[in-house]
Amino acid sequence: MRTAITNIGAVLSGNWREPFVDADTVVSDGGLIVGVGAAVDADLDSCDVVIDADGATVAPGLIDSHVHVAFGDFTPRQNTIGYLESYLHGGTTTVLSAGEVHIPGRPHDLAGVKALAVAAHKCYENFRPGGMRVHAGSLLLEPGLEPSDFAAVRANGVWLTKAGFGAVDSAKDYVELVAMAKEAGLVTTLHTGGCSIPGTFPVTGEDVLDINPDISFHINGGPVAIEDRYYDMIAPTGMGMQVCAAGNLRTGILAAEAAHRHDAFDRLLIGTDTPTGSGIMPLGMLYTIIHMAAVSDLDVTDLIGAATGNVARMFGLNNGLVAVGRDADLIVIDAPLGGTKHTALDAMKNGDMIAVGAVITDGVPRFVGRSCNTRPTTRQVRVTRSSVLQEF
Ligand SMILES: [Zn+2]
Repeated sequence: MRTAITNIGAVLSGNWREPFVDADTVVSDGGLIVGVGAAVDADLDSCDVVIDADGATVAPGLIDSHVHVAFGDFTPRQNTIGYLESYLHGGTTTVLSAGEVHIPGRPHDLAGVKALAVAAHKCYENFRPGGMRVHAGSLLLEPGLEPSDFAAVRANGVWLTKAGFGAVDSAKDYVELVAMAKEAGLVTTLHTGGCSIPGTFPVTGEDVLDINPDISFHINGGPVAIEDRYYDMIAPTGMGMQVCAAGNLRTGILAAEAAHRHDAFDRLLIGTDTPTGSGIMPLGMLYTIIHMAAVSDLDVTDLIGAATGNVARMFGLNNGLVAVGRDADLIVIDAPLGGTKHTALDAMKNGDMIAVGAVITDGVPRFVGRSCNTRPTTRQVRVTRSSVLQEF
């Protein structure tokens, strides 16, 4: 399918260092972005679908780097179906599993944890709720895993791993397990902060430094934060620093500010850490960006970068940026109807939840005109031409 969004007021690149692209039209073909520029240069007549953004803003789809998927579009944690499709209506076009920890009766034996990761990974390769990309199958680190076990899951496509919910005796036991997982080529992630569920133990700032994962998950607390002084100690290490909606807002801002101080903002990531006891949050990515920007000096565009381009870079994904050759996962956002601000970015800095006017994943419009979950747009985002027998 060839799809164009035209009459765009502002195009956000997803790269916080250069947040704007000088363009009014984005064209995709076969799921990839093939043109970012001026409408006069785009062959709109050849497009199957043309969307008029009416001056609204286009950004890369948000990438939630911390979602506890299970199987299908169902979470046993809150017994809810359809939540992933609902997240898509909040502008999230990709989610990364933070471990399938909510599967009822989840096994801890080595054969069980490996099988669970492989099954989750392969199931979501064949299933995209509402068009969303789901990178699932995060191997839960358990004592006794050997290099051959990591190689076996890696050979079956699993590339994520999570420390923090295993039957280890102390956080120190993760030092060797994380090192082995890294050696096998997996992206290693670590629960950070106080206990999230009964039966687990806290992971302190000192533990994070010792274990040295690729990414400190919910560094602002999951949901209980580490000591403030560790943000300036972790930022220079090269570790990814993930701030989550279900964490601590104050320490999330501390983490982002520390990242800037140490030229480490490329490694600041935003996620939700949902579904959890904190709930299901279809607008969680947007709320985190908005809340952090509204009560601090942080730029909205920096935080959008932390929810798009930064995540793509750290996890090696081909979306997250509005650029030729990237996956065509795009959102059209706008100031909410009835608000006091006139653009999506100004509304966000003002602390207002914005409107999502359209979501496109893999070059296919999933809805155009209105989200199920946000306020209506100020501008009239609409399909102006379509040769596809489908309503959006
Ligand atoms: Zn989590």
